[in-house]
Amino acid sequence: MASPSTVKTLSPSDPHAITEALNPKTTKYEFAGPLGALAVSVLTPGLLYVFHLTCSELAGGCPPPLLSLPSTLQSTRWLNALWDTNAFFVYLGWYAYCVLCWKLIPGDWVQGTTLRTGEKKLYKINGFSTGLLTLGLVAGTIYRNGPLAFLYIYDHWLALVSASVVFAIFQACAVYALSFRKGALLALGGNTGNVLYDWFIGRELNPSFSWLDNINFDLKTFNEVRPGLILWMLNDISCMCEQMVRRGRHAWPTDSMILINLFHGLYVLESLWYEKNILTQMDITTDGFGFMLAIGDLAWVPFSYALQARYLAFTPRELGWTLSTIVCILNFVGYYVFRTANSDKDAFRNGKNPKNFKTLKTKRGTELMISGLWGMSRHPNYWGDLMMGLAWCMTTGFNTPITYFYIAYFTVLLVHRAMRDDEMCRKKYGDDWTEYKKIVKWRIIPYIY
Ligand code: NDP
Repeated sequence: MASPSTVKTLSPSDPHAITEALNPKTTKYEFAGPLGALAVSVLTPGLLYVFHLTCSELAGGCPPPLLSLPSTLQSTRWLNALWDTNAFFVYLGWYAYCVLCWKLIPGDWVQGTTLRTGEKKLYKINGFSTGLLTLGLVAGTIYRNGPLAFLYIYDHWLALVSASVVFAIFQACAVYALSFRKGALLALGGNTGNVLYDWFIGRELNPSFSWLDNINFDLKTFNEVRPGLILWMLNDISCMCEQMVRRGRHAWPTDSMILINLFHGLYVLESLWYEKNILTQMDITTDGFGFMLAIGDLAWVPFSYALQARYLAFTPRELGWTLSTIVCILNFVGYYVFRTANSDKDAFRNGKNPKNFKTLKTKRGTELMISGLWGMSRHPNYWGDLMMGLAWCMTTGFNTPITYFYIAYFTVLLVHRAMRDDEMCRKKYGDDWTEYKKIVKWRIIPYIY
């Protein structure tokens, strides 16, 4: 922990020497290059609308009868739902509220990893307090005025999706343009010279804005934990309110709705509690900030991850004790694996080894754990995350495949992420990585993958 005045941070106004040597040209594409970038840029927001076309009352079911699709697409209700200027300003208000909380709520200032310039940035950690304050305000509103008072999100879902997509496009364009200013530190993977690709993957490593002296508002970490993650919880709560209103004045939500809110809420709050751990993740240390992260953080996470709760709002379903117990066991065992693996790695990377894990020494100077969960697979935390994801999908029962999209998508995301990490570790560790892979054979799930 450090105080803002004691550590020198990078600021866009610093005319320090970020030379061309620090920002080499990127020679290798990821995501299948510009065409892949185009495909993901269109598909990601596109899918958010497809979820509504294939799973909503507006569309006529989940999935709706195939023949109803053309008439849904032509219906004015659908078109009107796509855009609402008031909803756009509500969304901007939400983002501004998150910025204000970042600025006003006290928090620790924590150093990030060492940048290529040799310096370290400072990050304000108060995401958990922001999350608690927001939940408190929402709970107070619902307690005082009933669930009817918190239906805005559910009622304006598509318009809010559009607002977040437009804002993500705006942010990606703005940071791309600003990355050409003198002194900007670029991401090693985002400087190909291809406009579309660099805009998508992120040209500048850490776009940030100096608000006070040397205190930086870092857009990438801010977006990663606050406006999207907390909104995801609010989206779920709004769906729960919708279900309660439908079920009658004094009705409780269904067990499935309570569980999905509990599981998602726990996941979000614990991400906020461990906010500083993201500072060592590849999104922050390696990836630039472009459309990929902007759309992911602002639109994809809050609106696609809440699909199960939205489905349960208009298709209430009681799981019963047996299925509820199975789903809870899956979620909490997954959580145990996820949390233990992440905490073991964080402690180990901070120079502690309280569980006396066996280690492999590397020429790079750092060690790799080869026993405990990290001796069973190379990404045990992904394996726990996947178990939780499956439990979330199962809260919706087995009547539709659409609410299982999350686990299919998340599997692809984590397999791809494991491949990217493997490539980076091969470069970092050389032969030692090959040796490590001989000892820890499984990539994510022991004996399966
Ligand atoms: P990891 O936490 O697996 O970190 C990978 C890094 O850990 C490697 O680059 C290496 O870096 C270090 N490492 C690898 N093996 C070992 C070892 N045996 N011993 C010690 N260090 C090791 O990956 P992520 O950062 O991708 O994921 C973090 C968490 O975020 C996970 O729980 C994941 O599930 C979650 N996540 C969630 C997403 C969501 O949308 N919900 C999206 C993406 C991730 P080095 O050696 O340089 O320290």
